[in-house]
Amino acid sequence: MNYQPIIGLEVHVELATKSKMFCGCPVEHFGVTPNIHTCPVCLGLPGALPVPNKKAVEWTILLGLTLGCKVNKESKFDRKNYFYPDLPKGYQISQYDEPIAVDGELRIKNYELRDRIIRIRRVHLEEDTGKLQHAEINSEKVSLVDFNRSGVPLVEIVTEPDFRSIEEVDIFLKKLQRIIRYLGISGADMEKGSMRLEPSISISASRKPLQDLVLQRPSPLPPYRVELKNINSFRFVRKALEYEIKRQTEMLRTGVQPLQQTRGWSETKNETIPQREKEEAHDYRYFPEPDIPPMRFTSDQVSVIRDQISELPDAKSARFVKQYGITDYAATILTDDPAMAIHFETAVQLLKPEQSFLVADLANWLINKRVDLSGTTPAELVIQVTKSKEATDIDQNELDKIITEVVGINKKAVTEYKLGKEPALMFLVGQVLRKVKADPRLVKELLKEGLLHE
Ligand code: ZN
Ligand code: MN
Repeated sequence: MNYQPIIGLEVHVELATKSKMFCGCPVEHFGVTPNIHTCPVCLGLPGALPVPNKKAVEWTILLGLTLGCKVNKESKFDRKNYFYPDLPKGYQISQYDEPIAVDGELRIKNYELRDRIIRIRRVHLEEDTGKLQHAEINSEKVSLVDFNRSGVPLVEIVTEPDFRSIEEVDIFLKKLQRIIRYLGISGADMEKGSMRLEPSISISASRKPLQDLVLQRPSPLPPYRVELKNINSFRFVRKALEYEIKRQTEMLRTGVQPLQQTRGWSETKNETIPQREKEEAHDYRYFPEPDIPPMRFTSDQVSVIRDQISELPDAKSARFVKQYGITDYAATILTDDPAMAIHFETAVQLLKPEQSFLVADLANWLINKRVDLSGTTPAELVIQVTKSKEATDIDQNELDKIITEVVGINKKAVTEYKLGKEPALMFLVGQVLRKVKADPRLVKELLKEGLLHE
């Protein structure tokens, strides 16, 4: 038998709007005094009426479009009923059968550099819950509720079960996080809980070769799936999935079918722990939210939002390589953080034509020196890099001496260059630069000149 993990993801992202999803309270809740950002609406007091946040709706459309989704012309909110102390209304306003966006995809390259398409099933909008804090007061164990987070706009992104390895999950999540940060709609910060992950995993046991299982979508899917909750870092996603792959595979090997259930990750025990048997949609008794009219989007409204999609990380990285001649590696790091990318480009534009050779140095400086972006303007950056180059500038005589020396011991390259082979010149430049730190362009010119007169 071959055992192949089949993984899908639910990702919750808090939107960085000014106010909450259905009221005017501020969205800040991390490290804030408990229960100060609350009102009758987000406390679920009787008679309070929700009013949807327009920006949150627009940003959900924006994210949906960026993920290649189709925006539904009509969309509505529904009540998802369940009881938990952090949910004051006894239901969460969410979206059930008419989400804002559906049927998208995100392409990733896995570690074997194989192209993989991860289908996005839906992108919908809902509200966050309050937060429980378990504490001890006067040696009594208590649970406290903080409603600052209650009603913060939350986007839920649901993928199809298209992941075949933990690596693919990892690559996808990092790419998604970058996209969200680029759009400027959320910090997508796992430590602060503004990005939260719920992978679901099952194992497909089959006599087919593993290669087929990876490339094809197994049908039928395994008859069970395990949903993992409470995972707040990329590292724990990896560990929880590793644990589940092992646990489920061992069960299947001994002929036992794993149960359909929800499990949580325990940091202290380093294992997943069963929480409850998986509930079905009908357990939530979804029904349309009667206090909010359905939404209708015209094609014009959608295309105005589509026009707001800025250059995304992959495209920017490719452009940096092409336009500025920096390495793939440098471009990827520079574009990882949109603020760093802007700093780099602004600084490059400040270079005088004769300084254009400094582009790579600027990139390296930003990457290696961990420049404090808020405390250093692009102009200051250019000055710093220029100075650092001057400091290493060596005496002209010294450079001439080294060039003569290199030309003297690399007769073959010299002959090749004279026969018209340009790469030979670059080889000689490289040999000089191995011995001394200098501007490659200057070295090239000096070499050319020297070889003319040889
Ligand atoms: Zn409120
Ligand atoms: Mn949700």
